[in-house]
Amino acid sequence: MKECQAILKSDDHTSRSSTNSLFTIRTVRYGECQKNQAANVGGYAVDGCREFIPCADEGSNGALTCAACGCHRNFHRREVETEIVVRRSMENGQQ
Ligand SMILES: [Zn+2]
Repeated sequence: MKECQAILKSDDHTSRSSTNSLFTIRTVRYGECQKNQAANVGGYAVDGCREFIPCADEGSNGALTCAACGCHRNFHRREVETEIVVRRSMENGQQ
């Protein structure tokens, strides 16, 4: 027996109610790897990986593993960029 499971991510910005649509684009980037490779010998050395590149597509197993250095994504510095975009639709654009 096979059971299909749908995982829905509910995001606020999917609602489209007015003519002016407000989009919040949140981009999450993962910067340089900060895993201390020399922690076991009491030193400090990072592997020099500059940016997290997922091994596999989002949602699959390798998505949290860096293709370049093999570390988990948590070791990479998280940067969140929030951008608000107002898109005015062409129909009834009067105020
Ligand atoms: Zn790394």
